[in-house]
Amino acid sequence: MLTRLQLANMRTIEEPTSQPTLPTTIDLKISLEYSRNFARDKSRERAKTARVSDLYNQEILEQLWTAVVFCGGGDRGGGDGGGGSIWGAAMAHSYVRRISKPQMMIVVVTSSSSIFSFCFALSLLAFFASAHILTDTEGKNSDLFPEVLREEAVARLYELGKVSDAEGYLERTFLSPASIRAGNLIREWMEDAGLRTWMDQMGNVHGRVEGMNPSADALLIGSHLDTVVDAGIFDGSLGIISAISVLKVLNITAKLQKLRRPIEVIAFSDEEGVRFQSTFLGSAAVAGVLPASALQISDKSGVTVQNALMDNSIEATEETLSQLKYDPKSVWGYVEVHIEQGPVLEGIGLPLAVVKGIAGQTRLKVTVRGSQGHAGTVPMSMRQDPMAAAAELIVLLESLCKHPKDFLSYDGQCNGFAVESLSGSLVCTVGEISSWPSASNVIPGQVTFTVDLRAIDDMGREAVFYELSDRMYQICEKRSVSCTIERKHDANAVICDTELSTQLKSATYSTLKRMEGEIQGDVPVLMSGAGHDAMAMSHLTKVGMLFVRCRGGISHSPAEHVLDEDVWAAGLAILAFLETHL
Ligand SMILES: [Zn+2]
Repeated sequence: MLTRLQLANMRTIEEPTSQPTLPTTIDLKISLEYSRNFARDKSRERAKTARVSDLYNQEILEQLWTAVVFCGGGDRGGGDGGGGSIWGAAMAHSYVRRISKPQMMIVVVTSSSSIFSFCFALSLLAFFASAHILTDTEGKNSDLFPEVLREEAVARLYELGKVSDAEGYLERTFLSPASIRAGNLIREWMEDAGLRTWMDQMGNVHGRVEGMNPSADALLIGSHLDTVVDAGIFDGSLGIISAISVLKVLNITAKLQKLRRPIEVIAFSDEEGVRFQSTFLGSAAVAGVLPASALQISDKSGVTVQNALMDNSIEATEETLSQLKYDPKSVWGYVEVHIEQGPVLEGIGLPLAVVKGIAGQTRLKVTVRGSQGHAGTVPMSMRQDPMAAAAELIVLLESLCKHPKDFLSYDGQCNGFAVESLSGSLVCTVGEISSWPSASNVIPGQVTFTVDLRAIDDMGREAVFYELSDRMYQICEKRSVSCTIERKHDANAVICDTELSTQLKSATYSTLKRMEGEIQGDVPVLMSGAGHDAMAMSHLTKVGMLFVRCRGGISHSPAEHVLDEDVWAAGLAILAFLETHL
């Protein structure tokens, strides 16, 4: 049952996007005249929704947003009762303050005795409910920090998501005006968490706390602040904001200075590579693997990376670039939280997974040449059609990548382990195809297409490449067309560190258990098919990653979405992980 109470002379707030599922739900959606600061954005509006259902469910008490009803007598009567309800409201409010941040105060000025009585009853209800919650949850909520790890983190994600160079959609590329504004906002939040901040000479934003041993090797936590064009608000930002929120919790609980090692959050300036078509400018510089030649890469308007830095008063030379590199001895490890960008976690029904590694990648360009001719006059038996050949090659690629075991032998270049791991991780894509002369009445003379091969096992990926090339050449020979396969790009896989992954796994397990109750089986372990800053950072130090469920596996789209509860889960898991460094 969802009863909406709307009182005269009050503003009301929007329906919550997800309806409470409990059987006895009374939605005390009573709005407030009291605070003009509310209703700024959707996340805050959600925060104003009070659900009495939550009062009765121990598992979701943390979601409580309590309304305090505050009635005052009008012209006629109600004085004593008004005083009583003021008292009830004040008590309830003080209870609420102890378990959550103050949410609302409702002031109703009425001359109607029935509205007055109704408000009085509600204020008593709020008082008793608040007291009940406090009794039941004292000690439980205190270490879950929903107000920082969920409400504030989500509000910040939405706020950062509005920092864009484009009107109406999110676009924030390397060193653009919006990315500088975003960097400043992130620095504010880092300082609010008790961190010392700076921007380095590649536009990365750093926030660091030294803890008890400033000379100890530091734990780095990060992700990227740049976005694709028409992006979602969680890709990259989630990893930065959840790390800052967790450090804020450690600051609030006076544990920040008790850390055994320094912790540094880094918001990397470029991971997507939209502006300069070159990924990891930020993290590769910190890892010391960015070549000096990268400073001379130009964007579409001819501005080089060096110019872009100069426009922001950052002088970048080969020397400054080499100074950005962290000494591997000063770093203990790197951890990144990122949205999954795939549908697996949603399918499993869990918010978090540990990442076992980031897939290696090979990109090919395949060119098939045949005999160009008239679509109406060349008999089928006499054609050397590169389009039909390309179609056969693409279907071969699909079969090989779906069933590598059927194609790869256990001897030769590929051992049994590689084939096993390929079955779980190999993905192959033809994303681009073109033909010449590309006319409906012409048998093409040439067809070109790309192949993107990814797998967690480098040796296996290599074996797939050789097997694929072999079979492609055979098909081309059989069809009397010529075939060229060019290897355009290679990146080796990154395997996440076992020790870090084990720590992240147990932190995730305790978080999932806390949030979900008993979890079936183990913490999921996934492979990342997409590249992340952790890939560049693996050249500097050991890396570990956590994936967070995103709706429908959608990313690089405004439809990208992470549940508030999952943002919270990510924060709790990182908090549990950091507690092992206390
Ligand atoms: Zn990303």
